[in-house]
Amino acid sequence: MTTDGTGVSVAIIGGGIGGLTAALSLLRRGIDAHVYERAAELSEVGAGVQISPNASRVLHGLGLADELARTGVKPVALHQRRWDDGRTLARTPLAGPLEAAFGFPHYLMHRADLLAALAARLPADRVRLDHRLTALTDHGDRVEARFANGARVEAGVLVGADGIHSATRGLLFGPERPRFTGCAAYRGLVPADRLKGLGLETTTQLWMGPGGHFVHYFVAGGRLVNFVAIKEQDTWTRESWTDRRDVAEALAAFEGWHPQVRAIMEAVDETYLWALFDRAPLRRWSAGRVTLLGDACHAMLPFMAQGAAMAVEDAATLASCLAAAGPGPEVEAALRRYEAARVPRTTRVHALSAAGKTRYHLPDGPEQRARDAELAGGAGGLSLDALAWIYGHDATA
Ligand SMILES: Cc1cc2nc3c(=O)[nH]c(=O)nc-3n(C[C@H](O)[C@H](O)[C@H](O)COP(=O)(O)OP(=O)(O)OC[C@H]3O[C@@H](n4cnc5c(N)ncnc54)[C@H](O)[C@@H]3O)c2cc1C
Repeated sequence: MTTDGTGVSVAIIGGGIGGLTAALSLLRRGIDAHVYERAAELSEVGAGVQISPNASRVLHGLGLADELARTGVKPVALHQRRWDDGRTLARTPLAGPLEAAFGFPHYLMHRADLLAALAARLPADRVRLDHRLTALTDHGDRVEARFANGARVEAGVLVGADGIHSATRGLLFGPERPRFTGCAAYRGLVPADRLKGLGLETTTQLWMGPGGHFVHYFVAGGRLVNFVAIKEQDTWTRESWTDRRDVAEALAAFEGWHPQVRAIMEAVDETYLWALFDRAPLRRWSAGRVTLLGDACHAMLPFMAQGAAMAVEDAATLASCLAAAGPGPEVEAALRRYEAARVPRTTRVHALSAAGKTRYHLPDGPEQRARDAELAGGAGGLSLDALAWIYGHDATA
């Protein structure tokens, strides 16, 4: 076990956005940290991710500002529209007003660009690939982790950042299956050149319709357009959570939607259907010297675009709490402080994300008209005022 100034060493299970941000945040605070990732290489799915100011604040603090500015796209507005005639329901200015209000940008990123930017700042010897966690033992003064490849590691703290299927969570709190949310998402990336005729603005566009919604935005410095096309369905019976699907099937699911929505889907080479699962929020994330972070403890519907942002915030807060503790019994108290700081906030974001399913998917009728009137009046869930408690949060404090 390696130690440092604070005397604590941390083993992070999982090298996704949450795990890598945690490693960088801890190392920045002078805390020894290693990432153990089950895959043979660090990789992300070919899709977009929105990084709101509460997350970009943390990432800028870790030295990623130049890289995010180079590969990310800053949307000028969030444009909410009606599914069939394209009528504007609300247009919230982002870019300048958002940075003035919250101090940090909102970025639209290719997930691989974000992961690569994080990995590039981590010394190579901090990431151990081909390490799948299978067992752990808390010895009271240290934690022992065992991996499928036969390796054993001891650390002062173990952090499960191993995603929605978290093995760490299962080992801590017992097995429990994620829940199908009743929504599935077709995702795709389209070369922006193919969509020139649409004259797309540099906005995030959110199209709301009966039983579904459609989101699109530029990523990869503007070279690609990312789309997420969400449809409700009663059950998910397939073994896999991600299936390659025919574009014709996605188009059939969005029959009658605005020509812009359909033109974006028509231009894609391949689309994947993702079953959207979540987990009930946990009241406790930690036991002894082991804790959780990111989707491992608060997997949520992506309808507030906050899952990765919450993982990034978790990482920053965990590092602050551990930096203030010594290596002894204070470690457990530090993990309890981390959990107390994070559980109420992530539970609230989780609930708001779940509520998006009803709000975005209203059938045309009185409730939809009331929602649209609220949006036209500048109120509603996605105005900058309504989002201030999310976007203005400083998780590093
Ligand atoms: C359609 C969709 C759109 C989304 N859009 C957004 C968005 O715009 N903004 C946003 O903030 N969030 C968004 N999210 C949510 C976001 O993708 C997740 O919340 C985020 O990726 C979670 O990161 P994580 O690091 O916690 O977990 P993961 O990214 O799942 O990483 C977990 C890592 O752990 C590894 N691992 C798993 N098991 C083990 C083991 N036993 N041992 C070792 N390693 C292991 C995995 O290989 C993986 O690398 C979206 C999600 C979906 C489905």
